[in-house]
Amino acid sequence: MSYLPIQQLLKTTHVGTTVTIKGWVRTKRESKNAVFIALNDGSTINNIQAVAEAGQLPEETLKLITTGACLAVTGQLVESQGAGQAVEVKITDVLVYGSADPDKYPLQPKRHSLEFLREIAHLRPRTNTFSAILRIRHALAFAVHKYFNDNGFFYLNTPIITASDAEGAGEMFRVTTLDATKPPLTEDGKVDYSQDFFGRETNLTVSGQLEGELGAMALGKIYTFGPTFRAENSNTTRHLAEFWMIEPEMAFYELEDNMNLAEDFVKTVIRYALQHCADDLAFLDNRLKEEEKTKKKEEQSELGLLEKLQFVISNEFVRLTYTEAIDILVNSKPAKKGQFQYEVSWGVDLQSEHERYLVEKHFKKPVILTNYPREIKAFYMKQDADGKTVRAMDVLFPGIGEIIGGSQREDNLEKLEARMHEVGIEPEVLWWYLDTRRFGSAPHAGFGLGFERLVLFVTGMGNIRDVIPFPRAPKTAEF
Ligand code: ATP
Ligand code: MN
Repeated sequence: MSYLPIQQLLKTTHVGTTVTIKGWVRTKRESKNAVFIALNDGSTINNIQAVAEAGQLPEETLKLITTGACLAVTGQLVESQGAGQAVEVKITDVLVYGSADPDKYPLQPKRHSLEFLREIAHLRPRTNTFSAILRIRHALAFAVHKYFNDNGFFYLNTPIITASDAEGAGEMFRVTTLDATKPPLTEDGKVDYSQDFFGRETNLTVSGQLEGELGAMALGKIYTFGPTFRAENSNTTRHLAEFWMIEPEMAFYELEDNMNLAEDFVKTVIRYALQHCADDLAFLDNRLKEEEKTKKKEEQSELGLLEKLQFVISNEFVRLTYTEAIDILVNSKPAKKGQFQYEVSWGVDLQSEHERYLVEKHFKKPVILTNYPREIKAFYMKQDADGKTVRAMDVLFPGIGEIIGGSQREDNLEKLEARMHEVGIEPEVLWWYLDTRRFGSAPHAGFGLGFERLVLFVTGMGNIRDVIPFPRAPKTAEF
């Protein structure tokens, strides 16, 4: 049996025709004269109302139509008598695909807490909030591919299993087929990874960048968009153990080009979401407004979700150096009053509280910080002439902190090798990476955007675990 997605049905003029809709019952309401069923099929945030006359449906069928049950409803699409919807379906036939025992079905038509919904992550896509988030997530993923395709980038798939442990981007998950209870040992008592599946120690990737650079030095402009893993044991609202990272890498780009790309890219994908997810964003905007009302006046945010997104796409990001930012922070009120948890001075890695002060309090705009101290950044970043800083750039967003981290890369073989020695990485281990500097080296740059941090920003949600269907975090891998 064919059917019409509700999203299409509400858009086109099928009034007067007989239609079949298939979906899950959100609510059922009975009056003296009629039964009203609100159905949702996930194609849109909007439900369609199906109406039967009192006594029209057999009692046994009516009993099975409860919140969560799955139905096929056939009937004439008519202009709605009631307020709240333009059209509705006058039921001629109902088929119950699957019932949902109201005593056991955990999703009832009331507001559930996000914490509770995390415990039933297998069912939460059936809620308005999560279906909206998942549709927006899809639209953003599509917009990412579209942006790069429109701009001459090639999608490069970098490996998920890697042997390079030299990236220094975080703790890694080991990949092995060795017996965990009795692994083979070398003579000096260490695990003998030469007997492991790949004949060496391997891990899940923390970044596709090094391989991305190989692609850029052949194809010019590439991007990756794939799963990324970090075993950081941090239970924050902005970190996942498994997340999706987008990493463009461009030959002949310097730091400034990199910043221009990052800014244009984020603005373009946010604009795409505004254009293509208007209903879902309006729903989340409203949801957030309700949530804000429960907060104290001084804790309420000045902008609503839609206003915030509009604001970001219509204002230039502020650009300044790390050194300038430290100046601002050192002279800031919270620093003078000792209100920062972590102290600031030149050379420290900025904490999220510092990043958010700059973005939310000082500039009230997204900020791009550049030229960080070399000691707190990765070995591959291009060294500045002052010998102290590197050509790094972090894009900082309100409510999020760091959303993008990137840099121009060191393209000089001697400097790169010297830096590797300094930080204790054997250049031989990354011989293949260094070959790009040996043969036809060129200036190049790139960045990494955590996809979930982008979805977090666009949906206005507060916890990164709520913007990925099945979150992976410390002690969390149920579904
Ligand atoms: P942070 O300081 O916020 O932990 P990072 O500096 O370790 O991030 P990078 O190595 O620069 O992160 O990674 C590039 C981008 O990937 C970050 O800007 C962020 O958007 C995203 N990202 C990094 N770690 C995580 C994580 N654990 N979960 C989700 N996204 C992440
Ligand atoms: Mn970073």
